[in-house]
Amino acid sequence: MTSAAEVFIIRTEGHKLKIKILGAHGFESRNTRLSSILVDDILAVDAGGLTSSLSFAEQERVEFVLLTHGHYDHIRDVPAIALKNSHRTIEVFATESTHEILLTHLINGVLYPRFATWPSPENPVLRLHTLEHYRAQTVGVYHVLPVPVVHALSAVGYQITDGQGKSIFFSGDTGPGLSSCWEHITPQLLIMDMFFSNKSTAAAHKPGHLCPSLLRDELVGFRRINGYLPRVLLTHLNPEVEDEIRDEAAQLAKELGADISLAYEGREISL
Ligand SMILES: [Zn+2]
Ligand SMILES: [Zn+2]
Repeated sequence: MTSAAEVFIIRTEGHKLKIKILGAHGFESRNTRLSSILVDDILAVDAGGLTSSLSFAEQERVEFVLLTHGHYDHIRDVPAIALKNSHRTIEVFATESTHEILLTHLINGVLYPRFATWPSPENPVLRLHTLEHYRAQTVGVYHVLPVPVVHALSAVGYQITDGQGKSIFFSGDTGPGLSSCWEHITPQLLIMDMFFSNKSTAAAHKPGHLCPSLLRDELVGFRRINGYLPRVLLTHLNPEVEDEIRDEAAQLAKELGADISLAYEGREISL
């Protein structure tokens, strides 16, 4: 007879943490989608390009949604996936301020039904779980750590670790000033905001986004604190300066001896 522990080992042996980029841009068009990634087909982080990227069958598999902050390009598809999957419950994780934006502006009984309490408060379509900064949360088989980042609106990044210790950090939207963030995480992959090219370095601070020169300082800080540099994927790209970002990121990768590349819609990475 096989014990439960043995079954778990058999099931997870050789398991790879699979990350699929659904939306890699800050502006939407026919060819670009808004911020969203999918982990192992079941856990989405941000919902800017969630429903438009997935078939109905793929949407059906999404059990968990983590939201980094309340800007429209990150929460937009939450009511859309709820509407199509109203026969079941999707677990939504965010800080209180992000839930408040969702409840006030999208699932407010005007734009969409109040999915957080509908059809009943006990079994809603969207079950909202409130996260606290630095307080780890179990989400399915994952260990999720919300870490505050630097943005115009209250925002967190998420370190997501699977049962085998494989780990990513998704920054969401952030500007520079991440040293306290780096002290709490040790991922194998960093997925970082990269909305600006270097010509906008001065302008990047106010809205809270990064450009390659600002990322350079952050990565140097990461290496000083953690003693290594993980692979880096750049997302939330501004399509208008994407070629500049690509060139500047390549120079940065060379300078730091790091693996830095741009995300794109449909890109898959396994760890
Ligand atoms: Zn934002
Ligand atoms: Zn954004």
